[in-house]
Amino acid sequence: MSKYHPLTTEEAIEFVKNIPGFFSQEAQLECREIGDGNLNLVFHITDSKSNKSIIAKQALPYVKIVGESWPLSLDRARIEREALQQEHQLCPELVPAVLGYDDELALTVMEDLSSHTIMRKGLIEGNTYPLFANHIGEFLARTLFFTSDLGMNQQDKKELVKRFINPELCKITEDLILDEPYRFSDNNNYGVYIEDEAAVLRTDQVLHLEVALLREKFMTRTEALLHGDLHTGSIFVTAESTKVIDPEFAFYGPMGFDIGAVIANLLLNYAAQPGWTSGEKALKEKRDWLLETAIQVWEQFESRFRTLWDKHVTDHLARTPGYQDLYLQKVLQDTIGFAGCKVIRRIISLSHVADIDTIADPDIKEAAERLALAIGKALVLCNRKLHSIRELGDIVRTAT
Ligand code: ADP
Ligand code: MG
Ligand code: MG
Ligand code: MG
Repeated sequence: MSKYHPLTTEEAIEFVKNIPGFFSQEAQLECREIGDGNLNLVFHITDSKSNKSIIAKQALPYVKIVGESWPLSLDRARIEREALQQEHQLCPELVPAVLGYDDELALTVMEDLSSHTIMRKGLIEGNTYPLFANHIGEFLARTLFFTSDLGMNQQDKKELVKRFINPELCKITEDLILDEPYRFSDNNNYGVYIEDEAAVLRTDQVLHLEVALLREKFMTRTEALLHGDLHTGSIFVTAESTKVIDPEFAFYGPMGFDIGAVIANLLLNYAAQPGWTSGEKALKEKRDWLLETAIQVWEQFESRFRTLWDKHVTDHLARTPGYQDLYLQKVLQDTIGFAGCKVIRRIISLSHVADIDTIADPDIKEAAERLALAIGKALVLCNRKLHSIRELGDIVRTAT
């Protein structure tokens, strides 16, 4: 029989005490469960003597929000742990180190990042992060390049693909992001006041064609090992530092899905800004920063990806003039398409974003939702026509 059971805080303390070389014998450990998600427990354990601290994350076998009625595989904890290790190896500054784990308990112990703020929260509080695009561009370029056929041995890659088959978590994405917003579903969750918008999403065949193509890419393209859930709630930030957490949705998929997730969440905050920033000038400045940062995320990714390609790719076909440009054009178009899908789903599907949901004034909130949907639809509709990320500025500013 498996030894799996959700740990108590005492058991979490017992587990981390035994991690070699972290806490001393005299440590006075205290533990609090601080998880804010629906799927996992997160234990924060501190030593009041040394002020050292550590995080232990444990997967639950069901989605918390609906009790035990929605079971979810515990293997995702292994997938998250291995993805963290892989990402940390490629980007040690941008991902917490894994300090211990127990796959049977679905438990991963990692560096405590409490000195950082969850980016979604930081953005809602009005902060800007000048180094963010640089950092996340580096994370995206290195994790995507070095897990693709361009950056690693092709047979080794096939072994890695096997380790990251993640059917249940992929199904959540396929349902919540790439299907349900476009039909009636009990999982959908939006106010009746935007039923007119939801009706358009259910019937627009031109939009459906693009979503069908994007879903096909999500399900069939094993381009690179993706984080799979790279929204601003999975990113810790300070003014100087960026750290990516929570890759339990990791799987081999199209690169644009991760890049698009980052851009989508910046654009959701863009749409939400009237709820958080007053004064026309301040609003414009904040929006300009968000939009420029979204563009920079792509540009920072692209320039680093090209550099890695030029340095590491030796295969003669992959070095054919024109191939790199076409490859990146495809990734750019996927990025924009998936970004659009991710914006739309945060308004219509099950799980929303606090940037918009916690706006107190109902009229401002509704306007933010409508703007987000307009941006999301515009991105999905134009994805295959896009040739430069700079077009994003006009698309977003003219969306209504
Ligand atoms: P979930 O998959 O349930 O969303 P996350 O990995 O996103 O879990 O963690 C949930 C919350 O727990 C985070 O928003 C953050 O507040 C806290 N947390 C997670 N990992 C760490 C960490 N390494 N350091 C500090 N806090 C963390
Ligand atoms: Mg969370
Ligand atoms: Mg999370
Ligand atoms: Mg998660």
